[in-house]
Amino acid sequence: MANEAEILRAADIVAGAKNLVAFSGAGVSAESGIPTFRDPGGIWDRFDPDEVGTTGGIFSAAAKKPEVIREFLSETVETFEKAQPNPGHFVLADLERMNILRSVITQNIDDLHFQAGNTRIFEVHGNLYRQRCLACDKKTKLTKEAYLSQARSVLIDSKEFELIHLLSLMPLCECGSSMRPDVVMFGEAVQAVPESIQEASTCDVMLILGTSGVVYPAASLPRYARGVGARIIDINPREHPFADISDVVITEKTGVALPRILEQVKKIKPPSK
Ligand code: NAD
Ligand code: ZN
Repeated sequence: MANEAEILRAADIVAGAKNLVAFSGAGVSAESGIPTFRDPGGIWDRFDPDEVGTTGGIFSAAAKKPEVIREFLSETVETFEKAQPNPGHFVLADLERMNILRSVITQNIDDLHFQAGNTRIFEVHGNLYRQRCLACDKKTKLTKEAYLSQARSVLIDSKEFELIHLLSLMPLCECGSSMRPDVVMFGEAVQAVPESIQEASTCDVMLILGTSGVVYPAASLPRYARGVGARIIDINPREHPFADISDVVITEKTGVALPRILEQVKKIKPPSK
């Protein structure tokens, strides 16, 4: 079987970990149907990051060319409505339940690690379903269904779309101000940085899962882990941006490689009943 030796080495390292931390990127959700940013056919092949990658860009484009923004947001709503955790996400939840995985640091905003069952998650780029007040900073998390059904009614089911419809998607905070999705757009401050650096600097094994490693400061986290001597396993079907600091690289999709690793880990360290 492809990558057999690498899978066995990775399983050995994972089974022996005392503080395993996973660091995930868009690739981990690719098998859930959410396109990555930089793979061919991804979002940036079709939409201009200056228009849809910043809050100001979205509002100004919604005023000038609402159809482009409607298309981008409608596609996003339809993609996220369909997305469910895939086998890669479920393996991380199993590893947490087996007391092997301590935490997940993710660059994803899609909530799929929570939906799979992980509980200790640091979301450096925020969460699409959490709303943040523009005035008082209060945060509220909505259910995926509540949030997306409202977005669907405005973006997909209504006949027209203008800037005002986009504004109607921003709920009111109890302080009276508007709330926006708590996701990190280009140029905005990354979240949970001290906690993520703390996790990376105190782990003994880090799984790097489906990230191109070009978005900073998140991409520096594996180097914190390496700096304290952690062993690094990088799983990615196309590229290995952390090859220079990795003990094992596995050229495979995470939804395929992680279940194979878990199967081997269970042989080395059977889960307690
Ligand atoms: P990226 O798009 O830059 O890179 C994706 C990486 O995933 C690539 O290296 C690719 O080879 C790899 N990949 C593709 N399919 C895979 C699979 N099945 N299994 C494993 N790996 C696979 O993504 P990034 O490094 O996370 O950086 C992009 C930024 O975009 C992130 O910071 C994130 O905030 C945001 N983003 C989030 C989502 C999401 O929430 N699901 C989706 C797209 C982008
Ligand atoms: Zn408020």
